[in-house]
Amino acid sequence: MEYALVENIRLKATNGVKGICQICGSELIAKCGSIKINHWAHMGTRNCDPWWENETEWHRTWKNNFYKDWHEIVLTDETTGEKHIADIRTIHGLVIEFQHSHLDPVERTKREGFYKNMVWVVDGTRLKRDYPRFLKSNSQIKKTEKKGIFLVDFVDEVFPTNWVNSSVPVIFDFKGIEALSDNTDKRKKLYCLLQVRQGIYSILAEIPREVFIKTTINGEWATRIQNYIESLKPKKEIPKQERSNIHTRHREGTHYYDQKKGKFVKKWRF
Ligand SMILES: [Zn+2]
Repeated sequence: MEYALVENIRLKATNGVKGICQICGSELIAKCGSIKINHWAHMGTRNCDPWWENETEWHRTWKNNFYKDWHEIVLTDETTGEKHIADIRTIHGLVIEFQHSHLDPVERTKREGFYKNMVWVVDGTRLKRDYPRFLKSNSQIKKTEKKGIFLVDFVDEVFPTNWVNSSVPVIFDFKGIEALSDNTDKRKKLYCLLQVRQGIYSILAEIPREVFIKTTINGEWATRIQNYIESLKPKKEIPKQERSNIHTRHREGTHYYDQKKGKFVKKWRF
């Protein structure tokens, strides 16, 4: 973990300092070395939060985009007393979880049920095949009228299957911690799979990194997601009867019935 309590203050790991775990209250030791990133560890090998994964530089780089006070927030289920640490919890109540290791759908669903208002950010660089597969699937990703919003056919051929039926938005980060000099590199953007479908299609939003960070910090994220979803709802169909009325009205206004020709003819002026 990045933070432990030292004399009741949240502190980062510093050599020789002992800390207290925010979840279980047991003693933590500071691990500061050159191989792994600085962190606090429990005495044994096990962490008291089974959902916690050892952090990589990717985790820390992401977390550092947000205020320190929002890092590693302990959340408790009021009914069961179950506790877990959210990677980020914003002041607007949004939990952002950065997931590097594999997570099976059952486990994923449990966590979504616990955090509720959340978004996943998935490390798309862990498996070598994920990004090439995404690039190759161009024909399955269709543009919509709304810029940056796409419909995805056969979504499990485009993204890892364990993420495609999530009940919350899932963001794929294919860049990882790599610095990209080419501004047209598709990995510069984030790809957010929304939790709703339109018919057989999944909905994908292409989001600039800085926009995701900015809107989650200022709280606009929730409305933005809602707007994406609303904009893709099928337009209300006009009932058949009304449709034929429109047709008649149109003809009455702009066309007249030509007896000789036996059909409606367009008026010259109307
Ligand atoms: Zn603990």
